[in-house]
Amino acid sequence: MHEKLKDRFADISQKIQAACHKAQRSEKDVQLIAVSKLQSIEVVKEAYILGINHFGENYAQELDKKVLATPKDIIWHFIGPIQSNKVKLIAKHAHWIHSLDREKIAKKLNDALEIEGRKIKVLIQVNIDQEKSKSGINTNDVIDFASNVDMNFPNLILKGLMFMPKINQSKKDKIDSMKNITSLQSTFVNKFPACNVLSLGTSNDFEESIRAGSTMIRIGESLLGKRS
Ligand SMILES: *Cc1c(COP(=O)(O)O)cnc(C)c1O
Repeated sequence: MHEKLKDRFADISQKIQAACHKAQRSEKDVQLIAVSKLQSIEVVKEAYILGINHFGENYAQELDKKVLATPKDIIWHFIGPIQSNKVKLIAKHAHWIHSLDREKIAKKLNDALEIEGRKIKVLIQVNIDQEKSKSGINTNDVIDFASNVDMNFPNLILKGLMFMPKINQSKKDKIDSMKNITSLQSTFVNKFPACNVLSLGTSNDFEESIRAGSTMIRIGESLLGKRS
């Protein structure tokens, strides 16, 4: 067993527990996703043995390889940008998609899922800081896009929203981002009461994210180690 991984897992678990306690939230309401992109199959297996069974991947081919080589009860989250030529692989393997942000992709996924005879839980990725280069739809378009997904693509089960706030911002801007997210999330859940999942937080900001109401935190390097 990889001692370091075990130690990092214990450390992260303890921090999650403390953050939940501070926010007066139940730990059961915060799902840890180990982001395994660019990590080896061995690392996934070791983490699984420690009791981690939600993993996040960014690349469809890597997801395909890992699914085939790891235990069948792992829950796979696709969290990266979705290219249209990779939709079939994602439809085949993913249990969750966090990065839905285009109607064209929603349609292709829905069609591919029809062929697979599967359904996938989806989150809409929102570009909260309006960054030009960043994936995600604009805040103003969230409700319309969600209604569209909800009505027209029966194989996509809409569950909530995903955010990836800017990394290098000032403390004040970070707090503002988190406030904007909490506010958008609450408007969203009013409209779509069944869609209360909030995917927010990475190695850098998962404790603040738990305070802001995150229900899924996506942790890569601080849990699984440096990516190769
Ligand atoms: C890579 C990645 C993460 C994990 O980032 P770390 O800094 O390694 O914790 C989380 N979310 C998304 C969308 C990612 O691409």
